[in-house]
Amino acid sequence: MRIGIVLLYLQYIAGVLGAGRYVIDRISCSGSLYNSVKGYMDTVQQWATDICTPLEPYIQDPTPANRPDETFMNLVVRLFGKDDLPTLMNLYSRFDPMRQYVLVDVDNRSEWWKNSEREQSDLELFCNPDYIIWKNSPVDGSATWWDPTRYCPIKNDNMILDLKLPSTHLLAVSCPAVIDGNQERWPVRWSETITFQPQKLQRTIDKDVTFNAKRVQKAAAPSLFSRIKHKFKRTDKDFKPVDLLDTTEMTLVHEISHLVTCGASMDMRGDRSYGWTNVNELKSAENAENLAYFAMINQLNKNYQLDVKYDGAFVSLN
Ligand SMILES: [Zn+2]
Repeated sequence: MRIGIVLLYLQYIAGVLGAGRYVIDRISCSGSLYNSVKGYMDTVQQWATDICTPLEPYIQDPTPANRPDETFMNLVVRLFGKDDLPTLMNLYSRFDPMRQYVLVDVDNRSEWWKNSEREQSDLELFCNPDYIIWKNSPVDGSATWWDPTRYCPIKNDNMILDLKLPSTHLLAVSCPAVIDGNQERWPVRWSETITFQPQKLQRTIDKDVTFNAKRVQKAAAPSLFSRIKHKFKRTDKDFKPVDLLDTTEMTLVHEISHLVTCGASMDMRGDRSYGWTNVNELKSAENAENLAYFAMINQLNKNYQLDVKYDGAFVSLN
């Protein structure tokens, strides 16, 4: 009976969501930016695969023999408070569509893409918010912010407008397929979007703030932490060594997890939803940052034999 329910659930996921496609905007992500963003997506999809692969056999047949290994389950408990079947199914349903996005190498501003092919399960990635323009609404003539790629007005409180300010603290903003109060439903041919803050994206590329062996090694060295923690915006009290690995890949997992296609996670406590200290307190699969830390630390476990203690310090798994 239990297995039957699980199979039904999997069919539901596959039937409702299917595989989404993603496109990278060629105008805002011009030149080398295109390949940088593609590289971040490749990494994020690998991270999602490394979560789904150990979960899949257990979700299909939850016998002890199919249980993911202890390190994986310990990480699930640390970030989500429990490791029961509903929790694991919840995680699978969020990371499975993330790993399934397929890159489509088309011009997302072409009429072909806009009019005939675009779906809600698709994702468009932008490297700056310049496509959002100020213009007169064709509806009532009043001036408003407008998204010409989706033919829709942007409300004044939409966070994407904050990206236009160089002083913003935001790294990226997702526009999930949520229903606007004035609309009956998400319009048929609107893809979900993620837009990066251009100066911050360029800086992380210039400084090579990438999740790789070099950076992991540096982060795990205590001397670096004491030297650079003052540079981070979080207070010293809240900033932990593991937060040094909050790279663009983690930002992208965080933003993708907000999309409806990937389970519509939230920032559960506003500004107090980010960083290791808050993640540890929240322990929720509904919180985007918990999902991002889960994906990243799973890589530490798997590829670097490193784990993260409750206090955010690194510890060897060996
Ligand atoms: Zn968020």
